[in-house]
Amino acid sequence: MSRRFRWSLALGAAVLPLGFLAPAATATGAPAPSAAPAQARHTLVEVPAQAALQEAVAPSECSTTLLDGYIDGLFAEMTDEQFAFLVEHQVVLLSVPTYDALFFGTAGDPAYALDSHARQLENTFRDLQRFWDIESDDIQLMAMHSDVLLDAARIARTLEAMVDTGELAPMTDAEIAEEAETVATYMQAQDASFQDNPLWTLNAYAFSAEGETDPLIAALPDKLVFGDGILAAYDAIGLGDVGPRVIMAHEFAHHVQFELGTFDTGPSDPAEATRRTELMADAMASYYATHKKGLALNAKRVSDALLSFYTVGDCSFASPGHHGTPLQRERAADWGADLAAAARPRSTVLPAATVIEMFDAALPNIISGS
Ligand SMILES: [Zn+2]
Repeated sequence: MSRRFRWSLALGAAVLPLGFLAPAATATGAPAPSAAPAQARHTLVEVPAQAALQEAVAPSECSTTLLDGYIDGLFAEMTDEQFAFLVEHQVVLLSVPTYDALFFGTAGDPAYALDSHARQLENTFRDLQRFWDIESDDIQLMAMHSDVLLDAARIARTLEAMVDTGELAPMTDAEIAEEAETVATYMQAQDASFQDNPLWTLNAYAFSAEGETDPLIAALPDKLVFGDGILAAYDAIGLGDVGPRVIMAHEFAHHVQFELGTFDTGPSDPAEATRRTELMADAMASYYATHKKGLALNAKRVSDALLSFYTVGDCSFASPGHHGTPLQRERAADWGADLAAAARPRSTVLPAATVIEMFDAALPNIISGS
């Protein structure tokens, strides 16, 4: 599995089968013929909204959170026609903004400039660079916006890069051009609420190409990418003040992990390995966010912001994308806050490697609750 991407949301990696709503597919047992792109088996990126879409179609017993309600509302506001279009073209709508920023975004390009919460995120990013004792000058902070979906050329180049890197099943140039044109044309005719739907950019992720052999991927710089959608979501559920900064701290913690080789150690089971690095990122986010030399935020609010990451997919305990149960994440956040509160003198910031070592020692108790 890929260790390049870490999503802020505790969503499973379930990939929605294309054509699952098509009656023909059910009746014949054969996949419905479609020109729409198909996700390849190999998946670099877990797109949280994919799981949300699956949940919207076939609800499971997974826990409901503030963010779930918000996401349900986004689906409910669509017309039936828009929803059907989303299902048919879900790979483009849900993945292209993410991959466009990954392959083509740069921190200096206005097309990827932070908009919502820009000052807050930039300040927190600089503060994190100061707080953690790792090399972080080379991380590019940028946004992903949904306006890429209005532009056939940008959609096409992104699909091409996704096919070239094995993220999508092979498509011909003609198929790519047709799909890009179809989506761009449709989107241009929609109202703003569909064009800018937070679902298209409901993501924040940390990327590092360290150890990559594919030249297309290896050439990419370290990135920290924020979608407008995740920021809109936190605003909508009343956590716009704390939420974005805590997500930033969580994603930055993944860069600390990349830098210190943390992904290369730990359990061999992919689900356990992901749970460890995700709970660790929560703990490090909480340590920073509550520390006197960090954001000095209230521990309960920080924990609330971290816990609000829970949404659909939470039941996918065996998924490589599983982030830990809500109780485990709460204990990880508490552990980080306790560590910050125990600092003597209060301004003492531990080296990142020390925090990670201490976390690994505490992990069995964080998991079991004993
Ligand atoms: Zn994460």
